[in-house]
Amino acid sequence: MDMLPNSTEARDIRYQMPAAADMRKHEETGSVVIERGEGIYVYDNTGKRYIEGLAGLWSVAVGFGEPRLAKAAFDQMSKLPYYHQFNYKTHGPSVDLAEKLLSLIPFPMSKVHFTSSGSEANDLVAKMVWYRSNAMGRPEKKKIIGRIKGYHGVTIAAGSITGIERNHTSFDLPLDRMIHTSCPSYELFGKEGESEADFTARMLADLEALIEREGADTIAAMWGEPVMGAGGVLPPPAGYWAGVQAILRKHDILLVADEVICGFGRTGKMFACETYDIVPDVLVLSKQLSSSYLPLSAIVINDAFYQPIADESHRIGSFGHGFTASGHPVATAVGLENVKIIEERDLVGNAARLAQMFQAGIKDLATHPLADHARGVGLIGAVELKGWDKPGQAGTAVADRMQAEGLIIRGIGDAICFCPPLIITEAQVTEMFAIARAAMDAVA
Ligand code: PLP
Repeated sequence: MDMLPNSTEARDIRYQMPAAADMRKHEETGSVVIERGEGIYVYDNTGKRYIEGLAGLWSVAVGFGEPRLAKAAFDQMSKLPYYHQFNYKTHGPSVDLAEKLLSLIPFPMSKVHFTSSGSEANDLVAKMVWYRSNAMGRPEKKKIIGRIKGYHGVTIAAGSITGIERNHTSFDLPLDRMIHTSCPSYELFGKEGESEADFTARMLADLEALIEREGADTIAAMWGEPVMGAGGVLPPPAGYWAGVQAILRKHDILLVADEVICGFGRTGKMFACETYDIVPDVLVLSKQLSSSYLPLSAIVINDAFYQPIADESHRIGSFGHGFTASGHPVATAVGLENVKIIEERDLVGNAARLAQMFQAGIKDLATHPLADHARGVGLIGAVELKGWDKPGQAGTAVADRMQAEGLIIRGIGDAICFCPPLIITEAQVTEMFAIARAAMDAVA
């Protein structure tokens, strides 16, 4: 890339260490500078327009440039820009958002605790699970089950529950306490001639076998995204979640539903737990909670989870955890306004209404000679590619081409993943898939 020495691109290379990148490649090629956004579009510093087909990082539900969120942030910052929640202090915005979340969740939950990212939230839930086992006099019940290709973040506990190799390699993860069961993607792992029902049964048998092997008395909880996201958009096979919940109940193992991507309408219901009839003990939310305008995540827990932790904190005299930014007033004020916009504009309804057309568009892309199959639900989907010389690289190569054509999506392994802002219109879905197909034609 040609760049002037004092351009943002050049100074980015000079001064920043990038996220999720090959740093030598970054030193050579630099990064695209995204300057502004409006609706489903973002613009780079040359004025080039892109459809944000992944809503940033699966997160900008209400689209870019929403003035109500800017105003909510300004108003709260002017009144009380910061306060902590240590030592019996609180403030209105986080209480209001906690109340709102509890009113939206369709199964009985008891308390909300705010953090700033999905990783932090999952890390803290792991600590809470261990704290609770200690509180209940079951110090041996500590292991956590994650799933291969599951993604729960990158901090030490969350990164260990994640079941993706590149998030472990060279970081000395996973921790020993974190164990992994099979990835329930029928499209990727179904065997020749195996029915979906037989595949589900095999996944459940794998889970049972893992629990038997490790001993139920040593396992405290299982984590799962209702639909795996960063593993490549992997919806569960029919009957999977019902079966998992029955097994966990039988063995007294908690279920943590990680709806960091799925929450707030992505699957066509407010929560994916509704889509798949999941009733978890803990629900983890982030991303679309604030449309990622400010960092915000929420841990929502039921009463059976809360009570032993509360007792233990009373015994010790304090729950020895808290972040400077826990329940940040500006982030929670923006979160509340964002959730109100999602409701007022019926963005969950929009996702449900456009789901059929969106999934048809994904399936249509899967008829391309480069494609193997399509998968998805609601307004999230992926196309698995085939025939690339180097396995695992087709997704990025095709995503790069789409970016050149004005569509930002995400290549994950051999898949290309789509997850547009929930405000997308029918015409924009058509526009997005037209660009995608033209880019695939150009690569083929
Ligand atoms: N959980 C899920 C399901 C996610 O998709 C992600 C991020 O993509 C995370 C957790 C981690 O969130 P963060 O990147 O905010 O730490």
